[in-house]
Amino acid sequence: MSEALLALGGNVGNSRAILDRAVALFCDGIAVRLTARSSDYLTPPWGLKYQAPFVNLCIAVDTALRPRDLLMRAQSVELSLGRDRAHEKRWGPRTADIDILAYDDIEIDELGLTLPHPYLFERAFVLVPLAEIAPDRVIAGRKVIDALAGLEASGIERLEPIL
Ligand code: AMP
Repeated sequence: MSEALLALGGNVGNSRAILDRAVALFCDGIAVRLTARSSDYLTPPWGLKYQAPFVNLCIAVDTALRPRDLLMRAQSVELSLGRDRAHEKRWGPRTADIDILAYDDIEIDELGLTLPHPYLFERAFVLVPLAEIAPDRVIAGRKVIDALAGLEASGIERLEPIL
């Protein structure tokens, strides 16, 4: 079994419900077992400024899938939730985006898959939820809480659980 950390986000439709569904589809309890889930966070849009705020969260999973297979599973969940890569803008609106942040301590730099995720340490909307579930995890030599301390995280709002 390996441990993977993933980030989910979206800003089209009922994002909290869509991301909840994404977690449920991704983590079937067999090939991928959910071990931790952060709160949902409302975050200001990044990259393209004039779009709806995003909902972001992070999960930790145990899995027997290899990194490529985990990525394919993530992409098939994105597609099943209506993501249309052909018509979306870079950094623009999307229903559900799933990124693999880290997979054990594996380093991969291949076409279509880079691990740890190359932008992980630049994005407070990833590190804030990640610090909730894995503050002491060291990724690429950096502890998650230390990396977060160096980032501007204003405007990121933790959402109360939906009962
Ligand atoms: P995005 O727009 O964030 O969904 O970008 C997805 C693209 O990034 C896909 O073409 C993936 O193959 C590629 N990619 C590279 N590394 C990763 C990773 N660690 N997690 C998810 N997607 C990745």
